Amino acid sequence: MEIFLANPRGFCAGVKRAIAVVNQALEKYGAPVYVLHEIVHNTHVVGSLADKGAVFVESLEDIPSGSVTIFSAHGVAKAVEDRAGELGLHTIDATCPLVSRVHRRVARLNKIDYDVLIIGHKHHPEVEGTYGRAHGKVHVLSSPEDIEQLDIVDPGKVGYVTQTTLSMDDAGRLIDQLKQKYPKIDIPDRTDICYATQNRQSAVRELAKKVDLFLVVGSKNSSNSNRLREVASNLGVRAYLIDTADEIDPAWLQSTQKIGITAGASAPEILVAKVVARLRGLGAARILEMEGTKESTRFALPVLPDFA
Ligand code: SF4
Repeated sequence: MEIFLANPRGFCAGVKRAIAVVNQALEKYGAPVYVLHEIVHNTHVVGSLADKGAVFVESLEDIPSGSVTIFSAHGVAKAVEDRAGELGLHTIDATCPLVSRVHRRVARLNKIDYDVLIIGHKHHPEVEGTYGRAHGKVHVLSSPEDIEQLDIVDPGKVGYVTQTTLSMDDAGRLIDQLKQKYPKIDIPDRTDICYATQNRQSAVRELAKKVDLFLVVGSKNSSNSNRLREVASNLGVRAYLIDTADEIDPAWLQSTQKIGITAGASAPEILVAKVVARLRGLGAARILEMEGTKESTRFALPVLPDFA
């Protein structure tokens, strides 16, 4: 059996930044530091930070007044920021700068009285945050049916944004449908689907031609990891999303010669190494790193304030 490692894979710049923000906050302020939602969607990352003293909550109301509170990489609605202020929380924003860029576009479109269309998964934290940045007409669209049913008062004043971690293929089809329905729709200067999502999906698309099984390392609630599994699966390759090496079922390897491995943007490389080690134990003899797009995107860390 041979293993082919997709490139690029694993952590993106936004995830590295968000994790570094929590680590630095723990160093500067001491434990506990509260984080609203999972800082990134990965069980291992969240567990490691919790071990150091980060407390993950789903509601601001669960955080004691005066506590240091970090907003996750997915971003939050303006109302959440405001509520945190009312509750006397000391907030730090770990929103990925590429998500913040989408927030700014939503605000700009609303400012010129456009309807904002958000293409994304309803109830995903990023989409809820982006929705909550609108101060005018806003709609979330997840399917062709949503677009069919959409009724805009002025079709000449409409623009769209997308969730950053969508499937490029699925989003492309929905955008084409929108362009047909609203020929004057305002189009972003560049796609909102981030560089990391695009690069990881392209790498899977290439590698899927060579392999007969694909393993995607990532947590079940990770949007971009799920999309990677779908990309491989849509190309006819058996594909599984696994959080850890323990989830590999040896039955998957029967009559398998070539295994592709990638990792979602929130999955650390240590988990990939453990998957490779387990597969070696199950008979994999050769490991090959694939060529891929080199990524140089880095995001500066925010300066952590001295809270009085
Ligand atoms: Fe930012 Fe993209 Fe990473 Fe999300 S996947 S944190 S948008 S770089």
